[in-house]
Amino acid sequence: MRATKVTTTEPTRCLRCRRPLRVPSQDGYGPRCRAKLRRAARTEATHPQWQVTKAAELLELGAVVPLRQNRIFLVVSDDGSEVYRTAATGQCNCPAGLRSVRCYHAVAAELVAAA
Ligand SMILES: [Zn+2]
Ligand SMILES: [Zn+2]
Repeated sequence: MRATKVTTTEPTRCLRCRRPLRVPSQDGYGPRCRAKLRRAARTEATHPQWQVTKAAELLELGAVVPLRQNRIFLVVSDDGSEVYRTAATGQCNCPAGLRSVRCYHAVAAELVAAA
């Protein structure tokens, strides 16, 4: 008598959101999560590491508040004394942003918009 292979009736689940996958996925992610991860990876690849780190800190602190359709964000400054208006596309009214320097507030906005 041959041992029967143990098969689970549990559907394969997305590694990120744990939702059952309707189609088997090679990397273990559902299409939506894969798109999100890709966007996040792109954000991380196109900005200096310290800005990505700073942006992640802001996100953890809940210092990034979506204002309009996930396009405009209120971002609290490092010391909490100022609130800047930041667009996911890069505009920001902080001192750096006003000099057309890409600031980490914008990186944070981009990360939230991609999430
Ligand atoms: Zn998922
Ligand atoms: Zn800024």
